[in-house]
Amino acid sequence: MASLEEVDVLVVGAGPAGSLTAEYAAMGGADVLMIEKRPVIGVPVRCGEFMPQVDEIRRIFPQADLGTVFDLPSQLRSLETEAIRIYSPKLRSFDVAFHGYTTFRDGFDQFLAGRATRAGARVRTGVQCSSISQGVVKTSMGEIRAKVVVGADGPLSVVAKSLGLERSWDLCPTASTFAKGDFEPVPEMYFGNVAPGGYAWVIPKKEGANVGLGYSKRYARGNLDFYWREFLKFRPLDVGKLHGKPVPMSGPIPSTVKGNALVVGDAAGQVMAVNGGGIPIAMICGRIAGEVASAHLRGKADLMEYERRWRQQVGGPLKTALGTKRLAMLMFGSQWRLEQAMRFLGPKRMGKAIRCQSVLL
Ligand SMILES: Cc1cc2nc3c(=O)[nH]c(=O)nc-3n(C[C@H](O)[C@H](O)[C@H](O)COP(=O)(O)OP(=O)(O)OC[C@H]3O[C@@H](n4cnc5c(N)ncnc54)[C@H](O)[C@@H]3O)c2cc1C
Repeated sequence: MASLEEVDVLVVGAGPAGSLTAEYAAMGGADVLMIEKRPVIGVPVRCGEFMPQVDEIRRIFPQADLGTVFDLPSQLRSLETEAIRIYSPKLRSFDVAFHGYTTFRDGFDQFLAGRATRAGARVRTGVQCSSISQGVVKTSMGEIRAKVVVGADGPLSVVAKSLGLERSWDLCPTASTFAKGDFEPVPEMYFGNVAPGGYAWVIPKKEGANVGLGYSKRYARGNLDFYWREFLKFRPLDVGKLHGKPVPMSGPIPSTVKGNALVVGDAAGQVMAVNGGGIPIAMICGRIAGEVASAHLRGKADLMEYERRWRQQVGGPLKTALGTKRLAMLMFGSQWRLEQAMRFLGPKRMGKAIRCQSVLL
């Protein structure tokens, strides 16, 4: 009979949420194991690779305790940008001031996993969690019993499913790739039929651009391939292979803790519903998850403390973003309505929407 491995904290998934959880749980003194199903962390890249600068993260989440979470080496920055150019269905453009940068998402995720390792966590790649039953986590490399299990396994979370926690009900097909060429140093977002209920993007990097799109199945009349081909007809580009996964767009799930387990990042629906961005929130909430998990093992906190703290730190802006998205959904069904709404909003209100602030105030 295969032996049962025992750990304090088992983290499933080595994305930003998992690595931050592993790092902070290990710093709190826990014996941490993080498993990742992909053989190489962060590969292939399935991301727009756009990050807000720290001043923007503070503006978006004024209640969040950022600590040193975003102390990242400059080598992870490909290109810094000062504005985002937003195109309406009729290609009217709006420049919204916003401090951001493009990263190298593979290197970014590998750096965060390395930080977790340096804090004392063990990382195993090529290991997939298939289910959890009676407190035992089944993986492709044997069974593991953990005092705390953390599901950081993305929007289709096996951990959430096994625990009977809700998962996002609005999963938007989204994919990206790299395009060679020279691009103006301004990220572009295209709204309208090109990506109904979502947007297509061209986000410049040092020697090319990250390009991709995400759309809502509710308004779609084709699949991802269809929209991708249409986008390339409209914007011919020298692109590589497209890689994608769903983005959870229905807001945080109602409960993120159950028994000795919790879920974090995309698995918990912790994504800005207005733009699908989730890296900064995954990192903020991962830190909270790791701190609470280790405090719990020292007898200093209930796991519910995680739910309370992440909602207090990022819950408000995520709720506002969801409200804005619901308003936008009323427009997405008609190109004309969407065009009028974008003209009404203008760059100032669009800036508020991007920053998860109310567009009505
Ligand atoms: C195409 C695309 C573009 C995006 N662009 C941006 C952007 O520009 N900026 C931004 O902020 N956000 C962006 N996002 C969203 C962002 O990528 C996510 O919100 C973020 O990665 C969430 O981090 P996470 O750690 O929760 O999940 P993930 O990064 O998805 O990590 C989950 C990890 O768990 C692993 N895993 C899954 N199941 C298992 C299992 N059963 N066993 C073991 N391991 C498992 C996966 O392989 C993965 O490595 C984009 C998303 C997509 C799909």
